[in-house]
Amino acid sequence: MNRFCKYHPGTDALWFCKHDGLYLCQQCVDGRDDNYSEARCLLCNQSVEPFGQGSTAPLWHRLDRFLQYPIQLSLLPALLIWAVVAAVIPPIPALLALAVLGGIPAFGFAQAIMADKAQSRRHYHRQRTPRWQDLSSGLGWAGALLQAAPAIVLLLASMALMTWVSTVAGLVLGGVAMLLMPALWLSIQVHGATPGAWAAAPTYIFSAPRDYLVAALVAVLGWLSSAAVVMVVMDVLPAALTQAVGGALAAYWWLSLAAVCAAMLESHGRLWGLNPGAPRVTQPLAERREHVLLCAGRFDKVLLSSAKVVKTKKASLADWKKNDHLLAILGKDSERQQQVEPYLDVLVAANDWPVALQVITDQRARESNWLPAGPAIRLSIAKGVYDLAPKMVVNLLKDLHQSYPDFDDLGEAYLLLAKTLGEKFGLSGKAEQYLRFVEHKCQSARLRMQINELRQAWAD
Ligand SMILES: [Zn+2]
Ligand SMILES: [Zn+2]
Repeated sequence: MNRFCKYHPGTDALWFCKHDGLYLCQQCVDGRDDNYSEARCLLCNQSVEPFGQGSTAPLWHRLDRFLQYPIQLSLLPALLIWAVVAAVIPPIPALLALAVLGGIPAFGFAQAIMADKAQSRRHYHRQRTPRWQDLSSGLGWAGALLQAAPAIVLLLASMALMTWVSTVAGLVLGGVAMLLMPALWLSIQVHGATPGAWAAAPTYIFSAPRDYLVAALVAVLGWLSSAAVVMVVMDVLPAALTQAVGGALAAYWWLSLAAVCAAMLESHGRLWGLNPGAPRVTQPLAERREHVLLCAGRFDKVLLSSAKVVKTKKASLADWKKNDHLLAILGKDSERQQQVEPYLDVLVAANDWPVALQVITDQRARESNWLPAGPAIRLSIAKGVYDLAPKMVVNLLKDLHQSYPDFDDLGEAYLLLAKTLGEKFGLSGKAEQYLRFVEHKCQSARLRMQINELRQAWAD
């Protein structure tokens, strides 16, 4: 059954948090470095379990299906080609490596079978069998060859060991190599077609040990049984046919193992950061956590972090607004009151006059006749809210010469006050008083010119 993420309606839920009883999407869980083997809920920080992922039955319940997998019409050519190519190679051990060429279609199909469960596709098909068209993309070939390379090198070394040194030593080397093979294949699927991906191989062994054991046993069984069958038919059949049997067996086990690895990708891929069909998570963790906390109504938790942010120099206007909003939602009015001055500084720096005006109005409701301390900020705000709230301009500036007689820009402030009184309230007498005060106090030529301009404008 499909379920949607609690906090992203419309996005399929991929995880379930037992603690909160919530279905969550990939955005709403935390996994370190794309590795979700310890995915955690962003709300409660407890581990979450994968939800709605394909079949969760253990791999060994489906062993028969993997062993039958290569026996289907679309994959038979891969078996046949390897058999035929192996048959035409002269029966000299030194030419054994050439027989590998017959495996190329099998390598391609194997990669396509696994990629079907690992890569994001626009259309999500279930239980789709690979076709020849899948091999033509070219994209998968690098991965296919990187998956084939370690198997070929190690198995050729084992065969050489069997031929020239000791059968048992060769079989053991091949067996050990095959134990690791599923992990190497999975690493290429998960991390992409680069040799560096192999470094992640141990992850796949240890994060799903039971299923990995099944995959490793299929790989070892394939190697040992193929070697045994070839050693038996060697004495019965001509060399070319023996080689054909070897080629066909190689293709059969190769594709079986690909089917097992595909099943592992399907049931554990999410732990490894794979999420076919869904967009990758690109939003930073902090933002995603905040979204979840806000959606869940845990404003107190968000406030803890936003209060920290506004204490730093890096805090932006948006950070301040959010912090103020959270304080308002949570009814923490005394904290809000304490932050009025620094918040106003930020608003003034950003020229956000409507909000600055609101903050001052709110503060004056708490404490009548409150005004920002400092003449410079009063003048800045007065300039900003001139059209918005002329009454506030008057409040901000009217007694400046008493409170701050040494303020350098007193002339400019009173010019603005006179202009406000004259133009917004029609109080030309009062305005004239302030103009005279400026004339009397300030010698600046620029101010005198502005005074004259104002008087001329009013006289007309
Ligand atoms: Zn979500
Ligand atoms: Zn939770």
